[in-house]
Amino acid sequence: MSVPVVVAVAPGSPAALAGLVPGDEVLAIDGRAPRDVIEWQLLADEADLELEVRRGGLTLTLAVPKAEGAALGAEVSSAVFDRVRTCDNHCEFCFIHQLPKGLRPSLYVMDDDYRLSFLYGNYTTLTRFTELDLERVVTERLGPINVSIHATDPEVRARMLRNRRGATSLRWMRALLDAGIEVHGQVVVCPGVNDGSILDDTLAGVLDQYPGLATVCVVPLGISRYSKESSMRPHTPEEAAAVVDLVEDWQSVFLATLDRRVAFVADEYYLLADRPFPSPDAYEGFPMHEDGVGMARAFEMELSGTSPNGADEAIGVQPGFFAWVDGAPPEGYRAPRTPESDQAPSSPAAGCSVVITGEYGAKVLGPLLAGHDGVRVLAVENRFFGGNIGVTGLLVGDDVSRALADQPEGDRYLLPDVCLSNGVFLDGTSPADLPRPVEIVATDGVSLRKALESPTTAAQPRRRRPLLPMVNA
Ligand code: SF4
Repeated sequence: MSVPVVVAVAPGSPAALAGLVPGDEVLAIDGRAPRDVIEWQLLADEADLELEVRRGGLTLTLAVPKAEGAALGAEVSSAVFDRVRTCDNHCEFCFIHQLPKGLRPSLYVMDDDYRLSFLYGNYTTLTRFTELDLERVVTERLGPINVSIHATDPEVRARMLRNRRGATSLRWMRALLDAGIEVHGQVVVCPGVNDGSILDDTLAGVLDQYPGLATVCVVPLGISRYSKESSMRPHTPEEAAAVVDLVEDWQSVFLATLDRRVAFVADEYYLLADRPFPSPDAYEGFPMHEDGVGMARAFEMELSGTSPNGADEAIGVQPGFFAWVDGAPPEGYRAPRTPESDQAPSSPAAGCSVVITGEYGAKVLGPLLAGHDGVRVLAVENRFFGGNIGVTGLLVGDDVSRALADQPEGDRYLLPDVCLSNGVFLDGTSPADLPRPVEIVATDGVSLRKALESPTTAAQPRRRRPLLPMVNA
């Protein structure tokens, strides 16, 4: 078990006044060694703490006078201090198995840890969930929890996870729902495996066995050129359209029986099927925005100043695939996309504003920006991952470089921050390595609108809120 290492201390806070400094290892709070930031926060919430701290090989005891509920004022290095629970599945569609070698090690972590689900919105299959975990989740009300369902048929689910426990682990989802924990589900649809009648059966299973689920998002599998699974392939447009039709039919059933739609289709399916996106109302407040459900409609509203949160308030935050893995304590234990010190300087007023995006993003942004003079969209093909990977969050510096190399020097280039984690692309390159200077803009319509309205002022990436949900493999 590792120990929490202090990485930042707020000036004037109880931690600072007690003499806690960055680099200190906190061995115990009031005699208890926290296992994770959830426990850390519970312990640190108490009044008048005693911290056992290791500093330079010496162990110190620091008394921290503070009121109950007052913030301690210390940020620590990671979310989980004992080991992250890794998954015991071998899913054919696992994106981590489709990564090229040589990326940063944290990208290969296959977590299946309910704590990371609570903290960041990662999905868990619950195949390693235990009675003790259930007790903790229920006692400490650690919700919402995101569960990978894929199929409610036990045999199909076990086959998809390649794990016999996959046949029974949804009983924990039942128990979580019975205990009143908010649970969101996800179905990754693999054509020929769990689409068609299996998907139909799964949504019937949701209605029949798990009607308390807050939402179920239906997303297509991603296939990179590194996939070694011969049975995994991208959807055809016809198959994508069939998924849209099937889920929309089920939305009608859910609406009639539960008064809410429950199941939602990922934006990617509408793009694949060349269908218009549903109306904004059909997303029921965009609860699955960060899973790629309703992002296009949300972006449209943000860009046009009609966000339901107010003209200058984005609807959600797109954390980007893998954005959680490095940990960013001051920002809620998840890597910020771009440290503020790394912001590219504002460029002088230039000819054309060019919005860099992935191939799917271009399909959404192209029509939205068509009426904007002096603005164009640069779609970047993802050759790094290949396959059917078209989302902007998986763009790497090498592909962006290739696309920018042919572009005129006088234009102004806007890069969405969803491509970056801690200021670097997934391939380890940084915006400074690109052949044209870029301005980094938060990945939402409000920030893009402001950037386009203020051509000499770079929009600041949005600060992360703590305990940010995110999409998992
Ligand atoms: S998709 Fe998720 S549950 Fe399946 S093998 Fe990969 S990390 Fe594990």
